[in-house]
Amino acid sequence: MSTDIPLPAHRWPTLEPGWVWLCGAGPGDPGLLTLHAVNALRQADVVIYDALVQEQILTWAPQAEHIYAGKRGGKPSAKQRDISLRLVDLARAGKRVLRLKGGDPFVFGRGGEEAQTLVQHGIPIRIIPGISAGIGGLAYAGIPVTHRDVNQSVTFVTGHDQSGNTPSSLDWRSISKGSQVIVIYMGMKHIAQIAAQLIDAGRSPHEPVAVVTTATTDDQEVLETTLGTIVDDIAKAALAPPAIICIGQSVLMRQVLDWQSMAAGHAPRNLDPLGRGRPAESA
Ligand code: SAH
Repeated sequence: MSTDIPLPAHRWPTLEPGWVWLCGAGPGDPGLLTLHAVNALRQADVVIYDALVQEQILTWAPQAEHIYAGKRGGKPSAKQRDISLRLVDLARAGKRVLRLKGGDPFVFGRGGEEAQTLVQHGIPIRIIPGISAGIGGLAYAGIPVTHRDVNQSVTFVTGHDQSGNTPSSLDWRSISKGSQVIVIYMGMKHIAQIAAQLIDAGRSPHEPVAVVTTATTDDQEVLETTLGTIVDDIAKAALAPPAIICIGQSVLMRQVLDWQSMAAGHAPRNLDPLGRGRPAESA
């Protein structure tokens, strides 16, 4: 896409000098950016971006300085507070600052903390939501995060907290009981522990699970497995983060809804993955 395609007519906001816009970049595929994100990219003097933001997206802001502020587990990374203060400094220097974060800035992305720090320093902000990996990434794997025959609720959890351990505030017994579908962000490191706790709390080892890595990008991989076999299967497939892990019957819908296989030339498969024995739209 060229950067000179005009945006559709709308009252697009102006990114003023001294402001910071915190913006979601979606899970990867640049086509999943919002129009507000494109509007922001075109006006920014500086784009501060995370590791999960696809580099191609930066080419849509050729006029801007691009600053990497990545934080990937295990690798040396910018400290959260340093990133926030850098944003403050840039805004105070009169720059039009675009803070670009993977997925949605307010979903396990510390966007709220950055925004709060900015406000505490008197910097005006705007928030631009994005498509979160736990929804859009699963959709690219053909998995509906809710499906009427499966779930009326969904639980999003993070597999580790600031200390790098599974969050101690998570009550896996309650999650196991109350969550029809569980979507785990940052779950790869502790998946053995998480799967064991869920099984221990009563979830079936045969429950379907999908692991979707680098979702929505050309490198996307999808592993279909079960709670009992996930650890071995992840190792066998040599899967690496970033990954979204989805636990629940909705994973079975992929047998019918894997639209990327259709894009690759495979015929649609009219299966009945949930064994309902009736057409999808009947009552
Ligand atoms: N704010 C982001 C989440 C940031 S936390 C969002 O709304 O999507 C980082 C975690 O998000 C990763 O460890 C992984 O669990 C998940 N994630 C982000 N992008 C992903 C992608 N393209 N594919 C799979 N998982 C992804």
